[in-house]
Amino acid sequence: MVAFDVAGTTVSDGGVVIEAFSQAFQRTQPELWAQKSEELMAYALKTMGQSKIAVFTHLTGDAQQAEIANVAFEQAYLEEVELNGVSPIPGTEETFEFLRSEAIHIVLTTGFSRPTLDVILKALDWQSKISLSVTPAEAGRGRPFPDMLIKAANDLHVEDHANTMVVGDTVADIQAGLAFGASRVIGVLTGAHTNEMFIEANATLVVNSVADLPSLI
Ligand SMILES: [Mg+2]
Repeated sequence: MVAFDVAGTTVSDGGVVIEAFSQAFQRTQPELWAQKSEELMAYALKTMGQSKIAVFTHLTGDAQQAEIANVAFEQAYLEEVELNGVSPIPGTEETFEFLRSEAIHIVLTTGFSRPTLDVILKALDWQSKISLSVTPAEAGRGRPFPDMLIKAANDLHVEDHANTMVVGDTVADIQAGLAFGASRVIGVLTGAHTNEMFIEANATLVVNSVADLPSLI
């Protein structure tokens, strides 16, 4: 099993996620935004890859406000997708094809909710190309917890967690992969976080993008 993150790892981001965060705060938390927009955006960038609802709960200090902000976030993201479409990170589909030819399960995990993830998967016609996808709510908790990976492994009857690979563009992906027990937890440089951040998080390897993965398997 190889488990990939979505935005910034297999799906091109180009600042769309962080812009959707900004829109969500401006639309639902105008007072908080006026007080400390820079602080909010710095936290959003640092915690990229974590469950969005958990990040909003931390920032607003209120579960109900977080729910409202999260709805606005997903709406802003989908508006952007409708406007500019969504495209894979170059090499993703070739890597998927390689994994399928080796009979290796392809899993997608995300910080998005199911409706948003399904819009992306449908737009890219990926539903039939992967083994399964998991969202935070379906697993229990989002990253940095390993719940989505554990659910995927259980559903696919993957018993040996060490014999898996976890790939993502954020520190939260690395933390989740290590907590899950994957022997290879790989950072990619096509998204939110840097080589230095991955090294500090104890990633087993950092590569430029998912296009580099077939040569490692
Ligand atoms: Mg990501």
